[in-house]
Amino acid sequence: MPPVKITDTTLRDAHQSLIATRMRTRDMLPIAEKMDDVGFFSLEVWGGATFDSSIRFLNEDPWDRLRALKKAIKKTPLQMLLRGQNLVGYRHYPDDIVEKFVEHAAESGIDIFRIFDAVNDIRNMEVSIRAAKRVGAHVQGTVCYTISPVHPIPLFVKMAKELEEMGCDSLCIKDMAGLISPQNAFDLVGALKEEISIPVDLHSHCTSGMAPMSYLFACEAGVDILDTAFSPFAWGTSQPPTETIVAALRGTPYDTGLDLFLLTEIKKYFEEIKEKYRGILDPITERIDTNVLKYQIPGGMLSNLVSQLKEQNALNKYDAVLAEMPRVREELGYPPLVTPTSQIVGTQAVLNVLMGERYKVVPKEVKDYVKGLYGRTPAPISREIIVKILGEEQPITCRPADLLQPELDKVTKEAYGLGIVKKPEDILTYALYPAIAPKFLRGETKEEPLIPPKTNNGKAAGPLPTEFKVEVDGDLFNVKIISAGGGMSVRQADAERPKALDGAITASMQGMVLKVKVKKGDTVAKGDTVIVLEAMKMENNVHAPHAGTVKEIFVKEGSTVSAGDTLMVIG
Ligand code: MN
Repeated sequence: MPPVKITDTTLRDAHQSLIATRMRTRDMLPIAEKMDDVGFFSLEVWGGATFDSSIRFLNEDPWDRLRALKKAIKKTPLQMLLRGQNLVGYRHYPDDIVEKFVEHAAESGIDIFRIFDAVNDIRNMEVSIRAAKRVGAHVQGTVCYTISPVHPIPLFVKMAKELEEMGCDSLCIKDMAGLISPQNAFDLVGALKEEISIPVDLHSHCTSGMAPMSYLFACEAGVDILDTAFSPFAWGTSQPPTETIVAALRGTPYDTGLDLFLLTEIKKYFEEIKEKYRGILDPITERIDTNVLKYQIPGGMLSNLVSQLKEQNALNKYDAVLAEMPRVREELGYPPLVTPTSQIVGTQAVLNVLMGERYKVVPKEVKDYVKGLYGRTPAPISREIIVKILGEEQPITCRPADLLQPELDKVTKEAYGLGIVKKPEDILTYALYPAIAPKFLRGETKEEPLIPPKTNNGKAAGPLPTEFKVEVDGDLFNVKIISAGGGMSVRQADAERPKALDGAITASMQGMVLKVKVKKGDTVAKGDTVIVLEAMKMENNVHAPHAGTVKEIFVKEGSTVSAGDTLMVIG
């Protein structure tokens, strides 16, 4: 084997970082066999946000994608990113779900499990590591790299040693925000190579522009594996380019031995694919931004933040949110920013800015985090913040999943009860995404249309005009475009909702109604939770602003609402 091996991330992290995880399976399969011929250490093709995105936006079954890729890719190990006890979701799942998920992922084609925990709490990784070992998979234990006053190099080395002792087959330094400098990479890889004997992988992002240099320094310190992506899906908030790294290491002691001509052929294919997605490629994700060194925002998060703010019609608050983020991160005990802590810190920062008052609205996930349900925070959270967020409630100290009852039997029964189980994996899809899986599994989810590419002058085409003035033989006609269904239906429904009524409760942000907790005629007390709104992937309780009777409810579970929409009226 060559001294330095390459994991290509084009089919997972790269499109997650640049185009919000929207690459379709049909754009992957035609090139899969060629990618298999390169001789990569592994191809990262699954996990992370690919699962969520497939069922939420693409009407694609993630399990089918994995099996299709496995059929085409016979030689190269397939790799997934697994968020420890969070699997590919955003909360902790009980151990029985974790074990079942790992078994089915391995059965469906995953050879290498890269397992991490957002706060580097190994207790959240134990069950998935053991499960992956049990099915004979290669386990890549992962250390989330971050910079903070409580993250010195010896702390990462200590964690790596523990992962090796637990049986991990390799170790990944996961630098999700592209923070690692060449010197830090050299020092950290060097320290790891001295203390552990399993191969070391460096995974970084180009966000700050340093990653290619850090890769070279990592080579000098003896790194074994580097993560790259084909150049059309590299740079910006994604990985360094595969072809560039391979070319740069040629003739050095770290030569990967990979065929540049073959790589160029594959690159050509992805150049064409990229054009299809140009409409959703935000310039912000493509540029180098040294602000990341200040704000520490990982690749996938920047593009998500931009689309979250767009959804809330608040892209002008981008800079204010960026500045709020490190403040929230410090107050929450310096978690590394990666899913789900990136969402937790990011969403709280967005809310602090949009609401005009810090911690006025606190999503359930942030409360859970402060309560310790995501694990031990790297630094303790101050009493003041705990009280502000939890009130009198006390944080826990045990392994979070110890508090969770087994769920597999329950969700199996529920899924069969809903009539949505066609294959065993459907139960897991439902267990992970109970709010959106039933619709998807019933075949009622529509693939979101691709946004048309930008115009030639480089400016965004903007929303399509819906009203034109047309001149015919000197007469002026007004022509309105009316949607034939699909994407416009939600908007039309919104328009029917009244905007201002006495006693009306309105949505403070765009989102989806998860639960309606009251019915017409119910009596509510001030502060009662009446609706649970999912916004920015977080659950937010909507409270009754005053006591009274529920006069009217304008939404149902599953409704999409915009900021300002009336949800219900309490008289
Ligand atoms: Mn990454």
